[in-house]
Amino acid sequence: MTGDGYGRQWQLLREQAYRVYGYICYGCSQPIDPTLPKTHRLSRTVDHTYGVNHNGRVPRIEDVRPYHRACNTRKENNRRRRTPTPTQWHSQPW
Ligand SMILES: [Zn+2]
Repeated sequence: MTGDGYGRQWQLLREQAYRVYGYICYGCSQPIDPTLPKTHRLSRTVDHTYGVNHNGRVPRIEDVRPYHRACNTRKENNRRRRTPTPTQWHSQPW
């Protein structure tokens, strides 16, 4: 998953997604505050839209949307019906 190229392309795709779609969450249609720290539950993140499966390939811009971190997590849980894993919200960067 973290192979050469994928991470770099994914990084560029995320930046492009914010430019194309703006800071609006695709999950709840509410604005996203880009100044929030990455560990915040409402911080910005970009992920695949519902039902898209790329089998490890780099998705295209039309296949991804900005999300709140919390909304992205909820989406993943709804799709996979898995138990939420404890996150590292306690290790704050400051
Ligand atoms: Zn949201």
